Amino acid sequence: MSDGQHLRRHNLATVLRELRAAGPRSRARIAADTGLNKATVSSLVAELAERGLVRDGEVERGGGVGRPGQTVEIDGRICGLGAEVTVDHLAVLVLDLRGEEMLYTRTPLDVPRLGVERTLDELATAVTTGIAAAGERGREVAGITVALPGMVETAPGVLRHAPTLGWRDVGVADQLAARLADRAATADRELRPRIRAGIRAGVHTDNAANLGALAEHTMGASAGVSDLLYITGETGVGGGVIVDGALLRGTQGYGGEIGHLPIGDPAQPCGCGQSGCWETSIGLAALLREVADPSDRVADPAVDLEVRLAEIRRRAELGDGRTLRGLRAIGVSLGLGTATLINLFNPRVLMLGGYFAVLGDFFREALEAELDKRVVLPGRGGCRIELSSLGFTAACRGGAHVALEAVLTDPTSVPTRLSGGAA
Ligand SMILES: [Zn+2]
Repeated sequence: MSDGQHLRRHNLATVLRELRAAGPRSRARIAADTGLNKATVSSLVAELAERGLVRDGEVERGGGVGRPGQTVEIDGRICGLGAEVTVDHLAVLVLDLRGEEMLYTRTPLDVPRLGVERTLDELATAVTTGIAAAGERGREVAGITVALPGMVETAPGVLRHAPTLGWRDVGVADQLAARLADRAATADRELRPRIRAGIRAGVHTDNAANLGALAEHTMGASAGVSDLLYITGETGVGGGVIVDGALLRGTQGYGGEIGHLPIGDPAQPCGCGQSGCWETSIGLAALLREVADPSDRVADPAVDLEVRLAEIRRRAELGDGRTLRGLRAIGVSLGLGTATLINLFNPRVLMLGGYFAVLGDFFREALEAELDKRVVLPGRGGCRIELSSLGFTAACRGGAHVALEAVLTDPTSVPTRLSGGAA
């Protein structure tokens, strides 16, 4: 790529990000805000429109002299798709470039029993269905990121180990891309180019908690907070650490793997092969052990998790002794580990996701008491505790966000409408 092409791409990205961050505005205003000259902005806007990324908005009738300006706004046609594989379901979420959720679907699935091949078949079906549904609403998926519950080497897109699934060294990115290419080959004329557009930029994978942390950082209740610690309670326990506005990845992308801190009950075996991991004290299995007998319907994995959590919440609201004692025990164990992490990272926000967000009201007091005891930073280092409003969709949202970021960084990755249709 020549220097000129480089500069052009950079300027396209600047205009697109400006419109996304600051909202609709006239070309003159974009020029003033970005420091680019007006003729350049007009040409950049024309190219972004050809790529389906921006469109004409309302006519601006702001006070003052001069003729009313035609505004430009983000076109929601281009979307990012985030998918997630968990122990008991697959999920797909599509976000458009305006940040609006197009669709969210969840398919219950016993992933450990089904195994790698059949799960990835199901995932390809769920993703294809999502692309088709977006297409029916005039939208096009321009990128796919899959959230996985384990240690993901992001560059080749390989899931190295997911103890809760029992998966090791699975090339999820390549295998899903190959399946989607197969689906495209047999799809009808409408769907074929849409699937191919979805995988044109490659399929990417990342750790689910890292993507959840990114979602919280970019679109959650504490969006924009530059130091954020995200901990999500599901079958496993995941963590994502945002330091100074960036995700802490470490050398190979495994950063934030907090579920296996050796601070749990030493008698409890963990899926990773060790025992006494933190996950064994605060993961979903620990919660269910605390609040219910194995025969209780809230412990029945065949019942949807959100239904079971709603029932536990109902019991807590009614003041059920065992439920409240169990949740307090979770709060204490959660506090033990988070105190360590707060001492390490000094976050502004401790964001609790997954089941912690659903039941946090009932263990918050125990958690805070534990933090007050163990966090050595004065005033808890200014850390506030929040319950995620994104809930179980956080990882998918983060995935869709990452897919859209690729478009925002390089708008030329989306072909112009003239050349794109026949792909
Ligand atoms: Zn473990």
